[in-house]
Amino acid sequence: MKDDIKIILFGAPGSGKGTQAVVLAQRLGIKRISLGDILRDEVKKQTSLGLEVKGYMEKGLLVPDELVSRVIEENIDRQGFILDGYPRTLNQAKALDEILGKHSIDIDAFVVLDVDEETVINRLSKRRVCKACGAVYHLINMPSKVEGVCDVCGGELIQRKDDNMEVIKKRWEVFNKENKPLLDFYQEKGKVFSLDGRKDKDEVFEQLAKEL
Ligand code: AMP
Repeated sequence: MKDDIKIILFGAPGSGKGTQAVVLAQRLGIKRISLGDILRDEVKKQTSLGLEVKGYMEKGLLVPDELVSRVIEENIDRQGFILDGYPRTLNQAKALDEILGKHSIDIDAFVVLDVDEETVINRLSKRRVCKACGAVYHLINMPSKVEGVCDVCGGELIQRKDDNMEVIKKRWEVFNKENKPLLDFYQEKGKVFSLDGRKDKDEVFEQLAKEL
């Protein structure tokens, strides 16, 4: 794998994008650009962007394109990166193409993590995240050593506001509505790799490393 590789990680909420992106970014020494994390941070800090996006995020709806394009443009550079959670719609893919074109940057791979609804519901409804460092756990598959306490930093484990059943279903619905045209767009470019995201995270990573 080259160390300035530029990857888009794509998949439903709960497909494991974030988990894979963290490991991949560490191994390759490249930047992970997680739009969800950036937006959550803006909400936490109550910036003007944070106040604008909060309502969409709590309902499981996509934040309007013009707000997110700006964030992406500010974060992208010529060094390698993994885009986690962007683009999610055909319009965003086109906006990204424009941004990349302006800076003469090419995407090397569009990686799809395939999952079904049952997997998504199971993963997200039992997901817990560290309030302080963002480490991710699962009540059954990947519990912390001490209940409610982060193994990494000792921070408090919480459930994300949008990880409740009603919002999970909404996010799955939004994903399904948007994903086909986006996939077709990248299929045409011939850079798509699909992996079975239902598998255990180490197996998915092995497969991912092989493909890249
Ligand atoms: P995530 O952490 O990827 O599950 O994203 C959490 C929430 O952030 C989503 O439900 C959206 O409200 C917002 N968000 C993340 N990525 C995008 C995107 N590409 N476009 C619009 N909204 C997004």
